[in-house]
Amino acid sequence: MSKLRLEGKVAIVTGGASGIGEDAVKTFVENGAFVVIADINDELGHQLATSIGLDKVSYHHCDVRDEKQVEQTVSFTLEKYGTLDIMFSNAGIAGPMSSILEFDLNEFDNTMAVNVRGVAATIKHAARVMVDRKIRGSIICTASVAGSVGGCSGHDYSTSKHGLIGLVRSTCSELGAYGIRVNSISPYLVVTPLACRALGMELGELEANGNNIANLKGVTLKGKHIAEAALFLASDESAYISGHNLVVDGGFSVINTAFP
Ligand code: NAD
Repeated sequence: MSKLRLEGKVAIVTGGASGIGEDAVKTFVENGAFVVIADINDELGHQLATSIGLDKVSYHHCDVRDEKQVEQTVSFTLEKYGTLDIMFSNAGIAGPMSSILEFDLNEFDNTMAVNVRGVAATIKHAARVMVDRKIRGSIICTASVAGSVGGCSGHDYSTSKHGLIGLVRSTCSELGAYGIRVNSISPYLVVTPLACRALGMELGELEANGNNIANLKGVTLKGKHIAEAALFLASDESAYISGHNLVVDGGFSVINTAFP
């Protein structure tokens, strides 16, 4: 029988209770991993862990804005599963789009606290364990196409995702010396609660528009597509890929105008 792609590996998925994170949790487990869901939505997190099976998945409350909670989540993972091979730093928030003329700087601070500082905390505490224990781990962070191009999201969100991609490039250079890889994934629009909030649309409305917004005719981008990208970066198939930003956008960020 062939080996599963993450056979026996241990992963933390932040923001794992919903959307892209939820799909990643399921995909990692299907591929043989043990997973800790780290989130602030305790109800959804517990529900998901129970529905998959508590022998393979655990939920741990973790607000990534609080470094102590990130450190405790890593300790919990080590106590429960004995190691940490994969950190999928995926938790993120997006406020509504607003003009720079009306910019709410408190909103800006909060977006930075989750999308950049929170990701930095997860990289720091995962890397500490991996370096100490000589684990050749994989750290994957969810960025966005808004981290490479402007004008497709709020200013705070776009700035935060540009920062996240910078953080990945910067840390991969230091952590490569220990055999630890750091990469990001940049999705285009996936219908999730976050996307609804950012675009001011209800779930049904966004789903109905999904095909019009898509760049690849006949394919609607789903959380599962992003989870598959994360699986690739978590697995040994990407053993020499580090510092990379894997764009999953059907060509959106390199197409200026649609071909007639
Ligand atoms: P989602 O709202 O479905 O999931 C986000 C999860 O993060 C939720 O479970 C939420 O409880 C959790 N979370 C929020 N703040 C947190 C905090 N402080 N600490 C820990 N957990 C927290 O949204 P999603 O679309 O699945 O978003 C996942 C990631 O994908 C985010 O980083 C987002 O920026 C990124 N992304 C999403 C899209 C999209 O179109 N949906 C596109 C590009 C990038």
